[in-house]
Amino acid sequence: EEYKSLNFIESMIEEEIKEGKHGGVVHTRFPPEPNGYLHIGHAKSICLNFGLAQQYQAKCNLRFDDTNPSKEDQEYVDAIKEDVQWLGFEWDGEPKYTSDYFDQLYAWAVKMIKNGKAYVDEQSAEEIAKQKGTPTEAGTASPFRDRPVEESLAIFEKMKNGEMAEGSAVLRAKIDMANANMHMRDPLMYRIINKPHHRTGSKWHIYPMYDYAHGQSDYLEGITNSLCTLEFEVHRPLYEWFLEQVYEGGIKPNQREFARLNLSYTIMSKRKLLQLVEENIVTGWDDPRMPTVSGLRRRGYTPESIRNFCKTIGIGKRDNVIDVALLEFAVRQHLNKIDDRVMAVLNPVKLVIDNYPEGQEEWLTAENNPEDENSGTRQVPFSKVLYIEREDFMEDAPRKFFRLSVGKEVRLKNAYIIKGESVVKDAEGNITEIHCTYDTDSKSGSGTEASLRKVKGTIHWVSEAHALDAEVRLYDRLFNDEAPDGHKGTDFKEFLNPNSLTVISNAKVEPSLKTAKPLQSVQFQRMGYFCVDKDSTADRLVFNRTVALRDSWSK
Ligand code: ATP
Ligand code: MG
Ligand code: MG
Repeated sequence: EEYKSLNFIESMIEEEIKEGKHGGVVHTRFPPEPNGYLHIGHAKSICLNFGLAQQYQAKCNLRFDDTNPSKEDQEYVDAIKEDVQWLGFEWDGEPKYTSDYFDQLYAWAVKMIKNGKAYVDEQSAEEIAKQKGTPTEAGTASPFRDRPVEESLAIFEKMKNGEMAEGSAVLRAKIDMANANMHMRDPLMYRIINKPHHRTGSKWHIYPMYDYAHGQSDYLEGITNSLCTLEFEVHRPLYEWFLEQVYEGGIKPNQREFARLNLSYTIMSKRKLLQLVEENIVTGWDDPRMPTVSGLRRRGYTPESIRNFCKTIGIGKRDNVIDVALLEFAVRQHLNKIDDRVMAVLNPVKLVIDNYPEGQEEWLTAENNPEDENSGTRQVPFSKVLYIEREDFMEDAPRKFFRLSVGKEVRLKNAYIIKGESVVKDAEGNITEIHCTYDTDSKSGSGTEASLRKVKGTIHWVSEAHALDAEVRLYDRLFNDEAPDGHKGTDFKEFLNPNSLTVISNAKVEPSLKTAKPLQSVQFQRMGYFCVDKDSTADRLVFNRTVALRDSWSK
């Protein structure tokens, strides 16, 4: 049997199953707030929650934690659904919304007021903050803390009906102003927001706070394990306290915390990602430089590579920073297995084969993917005039330059051995044409003695007459600092990499790509992994570089 080590959450769940806790049931949820697009950090939580459901033949809900209408939008709801499905997961039943529970949450809040467990506070946010105390010093009770239940009920009703201004009153839980845990010092349960909600319209003028809404929503959905990131560990007593106030039997969810994903060179706060979008620093949430799921998708990442990445980093209890190179490694590893190899020249210079007959063309056989024996072959056109990479030729080459130079031989991939003969230059001395001759007997795969001859280098090429024009977008890291978020007194935008995008507008690609469709991924031999962008058209192909063949940053 395969040895499998469990992470601490799996161990806990297996223990709970053994003990028959929750009646042997496992039910998780992924609860995004629809105030932005999902990012790679969310992917970690998705893989954890939906992954547990798959592992234990259990259910996982998708719940939109839509309790703040001023930041939320249907656009985000739609994008989140698409991203979760694209990652390869299915939620149980219909998507859930915290807003579906607003009536129940309100009824429970009223019950708590009646039980003396909540009160309306009419102080300002500043006054309330001032009374919080410090971790070592008890807070001060609000003058409204012991107001009559009837008064709280009446004002809470007015708050709900939109008869009160934003900020004029809040509902607070009545717990303990001296509690060592600051979150227990009469936390807010409801605030007034006089804005329409993307689902409930103008029905509500009060909206529940996360701490109050979250656990109760878990309870209403029969969630057994409410998994969240470490910063919520200090909220756990509050989660449990709120549950106690409304618990009427059935599954009692338990909250556990795991380390969030932090990536080097990456910003992972929705608020800041939104800023990049709104200030047109990127082209949108799905800009291929964004760490969003939609950006990674457009960049050419596969769901499998993201899931593998999440598996590799695992689930731990201590915050750390993962090297973004590990994410790049994961996609490189997967694309290496699945991508067809094609030839594309990003910085073209003309190569003329002097002894190749004018007007002749031949179609050479090229292997699609040496990593996949079922991938087959394709035909690539060859002719007298080709394009090669400018960097693959050097006029006065040092001895160790194993590409083309005058008097030296290289193999043209899938084709012939050629020898550099001469160059043509323009008035400024730039090479405009390279002339060579070819060994007529050296065709790849022909089995002749010449074809088996070893030459030091192999370069890629495309036939001038057959090549397609393409735009190629090369991406570099969006930030040139390892921790753009982590410097006191600086703004993360100070660390933007001004060279995060390089557009090559005159690339040449082989004609087999004529029908390539958006998201299709290929390896440009020797250049990296690329995928067709959504801006691509039949007349003008556009490619994004997903990742280079090797990690160029570690050098
Ligand atoms: P942000 O700070 O980016 O706005 P958030 O936690 O407020 O993130 P939510 O939409 O509330 O965003 O998150 C949904 C779920 O995803 C939560 O359970 C949260 O714990 C999890 N999550 C968010 N960011 C990360 C991360 N970096 N690593 C792991 N899980 C995350
Ligand atoms: Mg949140
Ligand atoms: Mg947030």
